[in-house]
Amino acid sequence: MKNSRSRNNAVSATFNAARDLLFPPRCVGCGELMEPFVRRATVFCPLCRAAWESAVTEASADSADAAARGLVYLVHYRPGHADGIPEKLIYHIKHEGDPRVFEFVAERLAPRLSDAAATLPTRTPVGEDKPLLFTYPPRRRAAIRKDGFDQARRLAKALAEACDGDFAALIRRTHRRAKEQKTLNTEERAINATSAYILRDKATETVRDRTVVVCDDLCTTGATLNRCAELLVEAGARSVILCTVARTDSHGGGKG
Ligand SMILES: [Zn+2]
Repeated sequence: MKNSRSRNNAVSATFNAARDLLFPPRCVGCGELMEPFVRRATVFCPLCRAAWESAVTEASADSADAAARGLVYLVHYRPGHADGIPEKLIYHIKHEGDPRVFEFVAERLAPRLSDAAATLPTRTPVGEDKPLLFTYPPRRRAAIRKDGFDQARRLAKALAEACDGDFAALIRRTHRRAKEQKTLNTEERAINATSAYILRDKATETVRDRTVVVCDDLCTTGATLNRCAELLVEAGARSVILCTVARTDSHGGGKG
């Protein structure tokens, strides 16, 4: 496992260097061209990076209480906040699909997730724990067709990689014509989320006695993530951690 991981890292480092030569990276915040070969360290130019770090620092204090059903996240999402840098990063995550952006946020969420996992009340003795299992609430098919990918799935995969965890698609949308969460108020979102998501076949075997991390790019009321947590706990998951890049108190843009 470790050997194949370091071989993969060597392959992706070579690939990234070649990609940098062909497509010089641009700052996710301001669009300026960045120096090649530094893209794995950051996705921001120095100015945008400073704005991003200020947003992250602010969020870290109240993410410390993350426990079972706690929410692990990096930044608050507020229009105009921190020069709008968190919004731009979320936009990239939702619509651009650049792998380095997912790697960037996954590397920063990973230590917060391991802190949260270490404080779970259901923790078993050291050495007996299975790796964290990462999953996600899928987007609507129309949205995936439009952007060409599912950002929550990519985030869950990047986090599984960064945390040496497992990845599994455990949740699916029902065939019911559920509404877009962003068009609903808090109460409507909870009801809508309940009918919109169910577990996939065989998910129960996979989640039994595991600590599952449900990943999404943006959390507004938490209705979607909480519904996923309910399903996983009912199916026998030992505990569930919710993980998102940004949390917002306003109703805009998120699945819930
Ligand atoms: Zn910039």
